[in-house]
This record gives sequence, structure tokens and C-alpha cells, in this order.
Amino acid sequence: MSRRTRLARRPSQRPQGTDAAIVGFMGTHQPPSRREALAALGAAGASLVAPRICAGQSYGTMAIRPQDARVAVQPLGPFDTALYDQIATSLAGELSVNVQRESSIDLPRSAYYARNRRYRAERLLDFLRRRVASPVNRILGVTEVDISTSAHGVYDWGVLGLGDLPGPACVISMFRCRRNARNAAQVHFRMVTTCVHEVGHTLGLDHCRDVRCLMTDARGTVRTIDQSSGRLCNRCRTRLGLAPRPA
Ligand SMILES: [Zn+2]
Ligand SMILES: [Zn+2]
Repeated sequence: MSRRTRLARRPSQRPQGTDAAIVGFMGTHQPPSRREALAALGAAGASLVAPRICAGQSYGTMAIRPQDARVAVQPLGPFDTALYDQIATSLAGELSVNVQRESSIDLPRSAYYARNRRYRAERLLDFLRRRVASPVNRILGVTEVDISTSAHGVYDWGVLGLGDLPGPACVISMFRCRRNARNAAQVHFRMVTTCVHEVGHTLGLDHCRDVRCLMTDARGTVRTIDQSSGRLCNRCRTRLGLAPRPA
């Protein structure tokens, strides 16, 4: 299976069924990775926030209608029950998908990257995809631990999440939702909005130009998520075959 990393392109330029979306915010790297990251960015004063990128992973055309989607919400390791409920409720409310609640399971040791003491997101996706079995056809992994993948020429780049675009699996971490957050409510808003965003990608939704829409491109800063309404715009609802909301 081909795997590549490239800068995100406009939806019109993106071939269907070949991408995994990375929600990227560069985190607390261990010193070697930090140096590599800055070198890759080409400037000592480079922003600590990474632009969103896409990493290829081919699953053919896997866009599906929300009513045909059954999304397993799978906590990986300990996870807050109230937040878990909020994520499941928002997925059903915003995307009209069927949600299946799973009990927490241990993080796979195969995904652990000891050097930076965090988990590799693409290995978590491999792990999660193997858990997809009828009637479930989508799986959302949620975790408290820091996750990373290869991006910008850096082997181990901390990310908020990684997901198939479209395809069966996505994984989101709470770790980067906490950065510079005003309060717990904002952390939860970021997490829930990002979960709905990534599951939206797995159904086949692209980024949206409406900055208030939850499918807006984060463009490398968590502030874009903070400024979103946390809801789908009517254009995105229509693309999913859902009735538009009254103005
Ligand atoms: Zn996205
Ligand atoms: Zn939209």
C-alpha cells in the first residue's frame, strides 16, 4: 500500500479515496525531533503550530451516506465518560450516523514510539481498522495519550488526529486539545468538534470554506476550531444528503 506525505490541497484537486487527513499541532517534541522539525520548517522562529497536511492511504472510493454509517466510538486507554457521551451524542446529532459505544481497550504496544514516549497514529489506525466488523463500518479511536505521525520531513510529528479520507478509521487525541485552553469546556469543544470533523472526512466530506462550519480546515491553529460554530453548515449537510437547517 502506498504511503506518502504531502501538503493539503484544495478539495477540487484531491483525488477521491486516497487520503488520510492529519489534524496537526506540533507538540512537545523531545529535543532531537524538535531540532529536526525546526530544520524542516527552515526557520528557527517557526511557529509551533503545524499546518494541516494529508498522508496518503488508499481505500478506493469509500464515501458512504450517513444513514448507512455505523460508527464505533472506541476509547483507547482511560477516557472521561462524560466527554465520551458528548462525542457520541454529537456524532449522532450533527452527522445523523448510527453510533455504537465501545468499552475502553488498552492501547496497542505495537504503536508505542519509545523514543518520544507517545503513540504512532498510523499504527493506531491499522489497529482500529482491524476492529471494524459488520455492522460497524467506521471506527473513531479516542485517547488521552499524545499521538504522532511522519510529516514535514520529520519522522515523529505530534498531531491532534489522523483519519481516512474517506475510509474506515480515524483517531483523535485529547493531548493537544488542552493547549492554551481557557477551561475544560473549551478542551471538550475542541475534542468533540474534531471528532465530528474527522468522522465527516471518513464519510467523504472535504474541507469547507465556511469558517464557522465544523468542516473548516484548521489551517494549523487550534483557534480555527475555537471559532467554529461546532456545527455543519447547510452546504455540508446537503453534500451528506441531510436536510438543511432552517436559517
Ligand atoms: Zn479535515
Ligand atoms: Zn460546511
